[in-house]
Amino acid sequence: MDGQLSAITARTGAVGLIGHPVDHSLSPRIHNAAFRAQNVGLVYLAFDVAPGYLADAFAGIRALGFHGVNVTVPHKEAVLDLLDEVDPLAGRVGAVNTVVNHAGRLKGYNTDVTGFAQALKRVVPGGAQGLHCVVAGAGGAARAVLAALIDDGAARVSVFNRTPARAESLCHAASAWGRARCEAVSERELSVVAAHADLLVNATSVGLGAEVKDSPVPVDILHSGLAVVDLVYGAGSTRLVREARVRGARAVDGVEMLLAQAGQAYRLWTGNEPPMDVMRASIERDEG
Ligand code: NAP
Repeated sequence: MDGQLSAITARTGAVGLIGHPVDHSLSPRIHNAAFRAQNVGLVYLAFDVAPGYLADAFAGIRALGFHGVNVTVPHKEAVLDLLDEVDPLAGRVGAVNTVVNHAGRLKGYNTDVTGFAQALKRVVPGGAQGLHCVVAGAGGAARAVLAALIDDGAARVSVFNRTPARAESLCHAASAWGRARCEAVSERELSVVAAHADLLVNATSVGLGAEVKDSPVPVDILHSGLAVVDLVYGAGSTRLVREARVRGARAVDGVEMLLAQAGQAYRLWTGNEPPMDVMRASIERDEG
């Protein structure tokens, strides 16, 4: 048991993560380190909530007066029906990953959108303005990525997904979000599209856990003119990030977005500027 937890008192408030599974999550380490560093009276725990129990979990959050929660896979969409209010950006993306308890009213936010935009700046300091972007994946995270890219002024977004119909439907929705040209591309079209693209984003779960040796796209499409943002992270670099760097591309893995979205959630819960150095140090690992 972490000796620092002895600081918990009868006044300590609760925040946490609601997901299924949650045992891989780094969020408890990140947030508890930040609470300790700033002497904030909150503690963060992870709760494995199976899909049939989400409504019960939210009844509990209200009854127990939780200060807020993060929400992760597979609950980010279903949670919208359980909230009193949804921030417009989260409503547009159709997914909530952060909930704040405002004196009994639960309001949902999506910090993945701004988290991704911040992670992007680590490899493309000017952001997505005018860029041709290729996004692998069409799930909840891909929706947040497209919202960020389009809001940032991307010129063109090509979406590639294992299930092509989901890429088509995401592009259809995203076409209404701004001026970027959005198109679904097949695996066959991918290498041609990537050859002239500026940015590649992995928003699939490929590269995670047992699939850490896999890449979501054929690695021979990577080139030095591409910046790469992988949403997946693990104990070391993902294969996509390693292969991109070998080919001279700038690349970051999902730790950058994880930290950025955590910083935004921390700001929403505490009103404080997040101690990003402390948060980063809490999950420091070997680059493999
Ligand atoms: P999701 O809604 O379940 O979507 C999963 C996506 O991955 C779908 O596009 C799915 O394709 C694709 N996929 C899954 N297994 C695949 C495989 N074996 N081969 C090819 N494609 C596969 O999940 P999500 O919420 O979008 O999350 C996606 C990833 O982003 C997760 O790994 C999550 O941990 C990560 N993420 C990271 C952060 C961060 O802060 N770093 C934040 C949010 C999400 P189909 O449509 O064909 O099923």
